[in-house]
Amino acid sequence: MARKIIIAGNWKMHKTVDEATELVEQLKQALADVKDREILVCPPFTALSAVAAALDGSNIQLGAQNLYPADEGAYTGEISPRMLVDVGCSYVILGHSERRQHFRESDPFINHKLKVALDHGLKPILCVGETLEQRGEGRHKTVVSMQVYRGLHGIDAEAMKEVAIAYEPIWAIGTGQTARPEQADELHWAIRNNVEGLFGEDVAQETCIMYGGSVKPDNVDELMAQPDVDGALVGGASLNVESFIRIVKFQA
Ligand code: PEP
Repeated sequence: MARKIIIAGNWKMHKTVDEATELVEQLKQALADVKDREILVCPPFTALSAVAAALDGSNIQLGAQNLYPADEGAYTGEISPRMLVDVGCSYVILGHSERRQHFRESDPFINHKLKVALDHGLKPILCVGETLEQRGEGRHKTVVSMQVYRGLHGIDAEAMKEVAIAYEPIWAIGTGQTARPEQADELHWAIRNNVEGLFGEDVAQETCIMYGGSVKPDNVDELMAQPDVDGALVGGASLNVESFIRIVKFQA
């Protein structure tokens, strides 16, 4: 089976309902002819419902930026997987470095969320990545491998077919500093090896491994040309209609 290609926009804490709807209305028209890759937008929770309605019948899918791993209950301020499915999400980003850093999310907690997401039919995008300091110490592959092993602990090969991994070096997120294509590919290859060790070669070859970290119109073609780069998780550049269109329409 061919590896799927996913281009996802992570809008983080940006866009009101009106702004979000306007953006997807424009994306929908401009990207209607794209057939060979999956397109995904991940608005903030408050805009999910309106964006789902605007995207109805389009080739753009809806994802959430996080979930809390319980169906319902006394978890003030949290959003459950049932609610995300109900509103039309098919994907959920988990373990983003901003959540690991600002909200102290641990690998076991992320792993728990990933299993709950799968139980509810949501496709997780598991984010992993090293700090500049860890890279400087030559520990980047080990750090990322541990995040992969711990994040995927207890998942079976069948379920893994629904999981995508995003390699996002923390030093490249929102900094304008992108990993060089060969630096990204080196880690993508290492991650695919980790997945192979856990689930076998067939699953590893099918797993979509996305790159994230200052992906822009002027670097996307080179990044996507790397053999083990199968998609992009785009932050800042996904907030602008022209730049996200150009990124989705990358030519590798
Ligand atoms: C991200 O939010 O996952 C991200 C990669 O952000 P940016 O593209 O702005 O670096």
